[in-house]
Formats: sequence, structure tokens, C-alpha cells
Amino acid sequence: METIKVQDRLFTPFLSEAEIKGRVAELAARIDKDYVGKCPLFLAVLSGSFVFAADLLRAITIPCEIAFIRVSSYEGMGSTGQVKQLMGLKEDIAGRDVIVVEDIIDSGLTMKELQGILAAKQPASVRLASLLVKPGNMKVDLDIPYRCFDIPNDFIVGYGLDYDGQGRNLPAIYKVVE
Ligand code: 5GP
Ligand code: MG
Repeated sequence: METIKVQDRLFTPFLSEAEIKGRVAELAARIDKDYVGKCPLFLAVLSGSFVFAADLLRAITIPCEIAFIRVSSYEGMGSTGQVKQLMGLKEDIAGRDVIVVEDIIDSGLTMKELQGILAAKQPASVRLASLLVKPGNMKVDLDIPYRCFDIPNDFIVGYGLDYDGQGRNLPAIYKVVE
């Protein structure tokens, strides 16, 4: 893999297709085991998680379902700042075993908000699965039982993640050249 350009920035190889594939397979095997006899509902958070979700789902062998959601943020009227909104969830998640599928968890604020919104809908359980986690940026206490890679705070593109709208199609993961 070589240095590539996305929009105006250079990116250098960080995680290869083979490394990602191996970790996704390991994660799927763990979920298969943890949810045996159940039918988990995967909730993939658009847009960034679409590639990870597609690969993860095809590696799962137990019965399962998937739905796609979006989390949008807008500035609140008061001083509380950003308020996250859940969009696109038509499925009734009451009594379901939900696994949220994320591309990357950075500050953790998005997932913290989403957990609260989902919990109010009375699911049997909610667990987080994230391809990437940046522990160095975490601002909240968040349990992420399913994670493929813990990474440094560098900006990442590829495998579903974008830089200014581009780079989602890259099969591997690259980090920005400062
Ligand atoms: P947070 O955990 O800070 O609430 O938000 C995580 C979101 O920030 C991710 O879903 C993603 O959209 C974005 N993000 C954080 N770090 C990166 C990164 O290195 N690359 C890209 N493309 N997006 C990132
Ligand atoms: Mg995301």
C-alpha cells in the first residue's frame, strides 16, 4: 500500500484489508457465541459504518436482523450545546437484543446520547460494536465490549470512513499525513 491523496490531503497506510478482515472475523465469532439462541438486531449507524456492517453481518452465522439509523446533531436553543437526534428507526426494539454498529468512537458523546435514546425504548439489551476506538479522546464513560482496533488520535479514512465526503470506497484504512 502506498501513500494516497484524498481531496487536498495525503494519507498513509494504517490497517490493511487482511488485518481488518481478520479482526472482523474474530469479532463475529465472539458475537455468534455470546448471542447463541438469540436473534440480535444490529443497528448500523450511517453513513460511516456501512462497509463494516456489511462485512460483519456476512461473518455472523446465527439468526440476526439489521436496520440502519442515522444520528444527527443540531445546536440546542440553550447552553447545552449539541443535541443528538435518532432518525430512521422504524423497527420496534422493545424486548430485542440490540447491537449498535459504529465505524469509529472518538469522544464517545454520540454513542452516549444514542444509548440513552435506545434505552428509553425498552430493549432487552444494548451493546456497542465499533470497528475503531480512539481511547485517547474519550470524554465519557462508555462500555464498548465489541471493538476491532484501538487506535491513536490520528484522523483516519477508508473502509467506509470519509474525508470531506471522499475515501469511503478505499478497501483499507489510511491515516492523515500531518
Ligand atoms: P464521537 O465519538 O466523537 O461522538 O463521534 C464519532 C464520529 O466522529 C464518528 O462516527 C465519525 O463520523 C467522526 N470521526 C471521529 N474520528 C474520525 C476519524 O478519524 N475519521 C473520520 N473519517 N471520522 C471520524
Ligand atoms: Mg459513525
